Amino acid sequence: MNAYDSDKMADVLRESEGMTPTDDPLDADVILFNTCSVREKAQEKVFSDLGRVRELKDLKPNLIIGVGGCVASQEGEAIFKRAPYVDVIFGPQTLHRLPDLIARRRATGQSQCDISFPEIEKFDQLPVTQTKGVTAFVSIMEGCSKYCTFCVVPYTRGEEVSRPFDDILVEIASLTAQGVKEITLLGQNVNAYRGLLADGEQADFALLLEYVHEIPGVERIRFTTSHPRECTQRMIDAYARLPKLAAHLHLPVQCGSDRILAAMKRGYSVLEYKSVVRRLREARPNLSISSDFIVGFPGETEADFAATLQLIADVGFDISYCFLYSPRPGTPAAELKDDVDPTQKQSRLLQVQAALHQGVIAVSGQMLNTVQHVLVESVSKRDERELIGRSTNNRVVNFTGDKSLIGQFIEVRITATNAHWLHGERVL
Ligand code: SAM
Repeated sequence: MNAYDSDKMADVLRESEGMTPTDDPLDADVILFNTCSVREKAQEKVFSDLGRVRELKDLKPNLIIGVGGCVASQEGEAIFKRAPYVDVIFGPQTLHRLPDLIARRRATGQSQCDISFPEIEKFDQLPVTQTKGVTAFVSIMEGCSKYCTFCVVPYTRGEEVSRPFDDILVEIASLTAQGVKEITLLGQNVNAYRGLLADGEQADFALLLEYVHEIPGVERIRFTTSHPRECTQRMIDAYARLPKLAAHLHLPVQCGSDRILAAMKRGYSVLEYKSVVRRLREARPNLSISSDFIVGFPGETEADFAATLQLIADVGFDISYCFLYSPRPGTPAAELKDDVDPTQKQSRLLQVQAALHQGVIAVSGQMLNTVQHVLVESVSKRDERELIGRSTNNRVVNFTGDKSLIGQFIEVRITATNAHWLHGERVL
């Protein structure tokens, strides 16, 4: 989501000011930090990064330094106190106002801050996406209304707001006209999508998938992130009906203990999560599922933790993520006593990561000698004779081939595997 937002910042500044991105800070007229506050570590990083560009202002007094994203949203004007040399602060929902904020900063000499949530206005004002690639992200909804007790997102990105149905289809059609073949629908909870149809009725996520599936030029559809609570039978059935839907789903579960899931206010039990997974795999037998986990949530006992390891063994996840619980200011869980011993937390993190690693090895092993339908994305950075493609289950596959294959779907037989790494050869 943040990568998508960064692209949009570049788009609005290109359109309004003719700016182009540079990798060299010394060359820049504007330096923007797009920040994440989902965990404390990410939040602290921005202040150390800001310190590093401060001196550039002495060399270039007209340099504009901006902070966007969720740290900006959470901290607002308080950032000026810690870093008074910052010129503009904007949130995830006001990035389209960036040219105005910069112009006002230049005209008045006053630093500017706008972290409001003007709902869907942003999408109407963003320039049409220009792309040379074959894959593209398309934002379909913003924000989150789930209010999980550990999570800062509803406070930094606002509540769930869906883009109108037709606007999404028009954007995707313009992307396929530019050569895009794979679309990733983006949102905090994409399957909470409830977009307005032209007749004033409401569309759900399953209907959106059906319509995207029919757009000429769309060859593969992915989406991220989805919430287990919003996995309707209609969405599950889409996996049986829509062959262009990739055989991979990222479905964050967070933990395997009902007691902790309730304390997190996730809105499902372990049994309900497993029932969703079972029905998904009935609809699409080769579906690969990945997830997010949090260890060390307040009150997590050895028994709760053992239940998480059990869930990992039962479901068989592909490449997944595990985080140490990080209390976020303003969230209900931050009021609870952070009572899991830090060494215990660290040990649980390592145990979950080891268990998840076994799942990754198992999936790689199952892929050995199979033929995968791969979208060729780029030349390998490690070896320029090799190409990189992505399989339907979202695995990166390396194989020898000519650059001219980039942008095409081809068949590749997997000949060697090593946990995350897959090697193959083209099947003609
Ligand atoms: N919307 C998705 C959901 O909740 O199902 C996940 C989006 S969240 C931005 C990405 C991941 O960050 C979460 O799934 C969770 O594992 C992790 N996360 C969020 N808040 C956290 C916290 N306070 N401490 C540790 N990890 C956290």
